[in-house]
Amino acid sequence: MRKIVVLGSTGSIGVQTLDVVRRHPDELQVVGLAVNTRVDEMLRQACEFGVRHVAVGDARLAEDARYANLTAGEWLQDAGAGCGAAGAAVRNAAFPDATLGFGPEAVTALCRLEEADVVVNALVGAAGLRASYETLRAGKVLALANKESLVVGGDLIMPLSAQVDEQRRAAGVAPAHGPAGALMPIDSEHGAIYQCLIGESEREVSRLWVTASGGPFRGRTRDELRDITPAQALAHPTWNMGAKITIDSSTLMNKGLEVIEAHHLFAMPYDKISVVVQPQSAIHSMVEFSDGSVKAHLGTTDMRIPIQYALSYPLRWDAPVEPLDFTKLGTLEFAAPDEETFRCLPLARHAGTVGGTLPCAMNAANEVAVAAFLAEECPYLGIAETVEAVMDAHERAGVQRVEGLEQLEAVDAWARAEARRVIAARR
Ligand code: MG
Repeated sequence: MRKIVVLGSTGSIGVQTLDVVRRHPDELQVVGLAVNTRVDEMLRQACEFGVRHVAVGDARLAEDARYANLTAGEWLQDAGAGCGAAGAAVRNAAFPDATLGFGPEAVTALCRLEEADVVVNALVGAAGLRASYETLRAGKVLALANKESLVVGGDLIMPLSAQVDEQRRAAGVAPAHGPAGALMPIDSEHGAIYQCLIGESEREVSRLWVTASGGPFRGRTRDELRDITPAQALAHPTWNMGAKITIDSSTLMNKGLEVIEAHHLFAMPYDKISVVVQPQSAIHSMVEFSDGSVKAHLGTTDMRIPIQYALSYPLRWDAPVEPLDFTKLGTLEFAAPDEETFRCLPLARHAGTVGGTLPCAMNAANEVAVAAFLAEECPYLGIAETVEAVMDAHERAGVQRVEGLEQLEAVDAWARAEARRVIAARR
């Protein structure tokens, strides 16, 4: 039985993770849940899964009249009243030692929860970095859906992950063959590459091919993108995801972030990581070897597969998904990404290649610009323009070597303020 904590449990990845748990009650048990703001929804999840430790990232909610002056047990009871039989069972059994905390510290405390084996980090944005850091520092497996952990803090996270891999080998809990499993990517591309690399020697890998759907605006010119609205950008052709990542997919920033992630996860130089557009999203990524062989990972476009693999590794469990029917798949297309139109991809590659604190500044600027676009305060093409302006300013001021979380948090705060200034100046 693997005991898991799910951070970001009401988001797209969190909800799908709980669906995987529902289908494997003999293999997985949820022991902690965290959200940023959706308290009631999380408490209903806590009741269904009998979870006793929950946290809310937004500290202001501690003042909410609905929750003030109640013990954690009483809160869960309250929510349990709406959960039928499952709620009643939890009410009767599990409350004396229940905990409910507020603020970022309460969320990271769940990463250190004694009984937890695995932390699924599906927090949105740069806030996820500290959670990833604390999870590995506590010697636990990190199932990582939060891209920013590696994009911003890869230089801090990967050495910690290597330490936990060592601990797992020494303790005999790592699989006999393949990676030790301290850091399991929850992303279709990185999950695919991870699987293609099992049983292979690092020396013989010559290139990683990260596939991209191309987003909903593939084939359009810059002129045709000028008046794109949030609703148009939120309609993704193949994957069903949250708002931030859907916008990132449409600008190809998501692919840029994934290139940086791949660089850290697989210790691969940037000139050996290529992006190829594969509009059907049937191929989730590929690895090329020194003898010219290429391994590709294919499968149905359902995020529950990479989520489940991150939790079942090195085993595979049954999944209730429609298998690929190759006789109906028809054509698989491939194309180079249009980096002239979709500037975020080359910007991210540049940030990764320069390294240090530049990806942190880039990521923060992108988060602010995407939020401004969704609020209709920044035009679609303004996202890349804002990111580029903030990156330029950071390079002029001097990119630093990554030294610690506080330094990254300071660069992140500076880049957010700078991005807001750039957006305001253009309105
Ligand atoms: Mg992906």
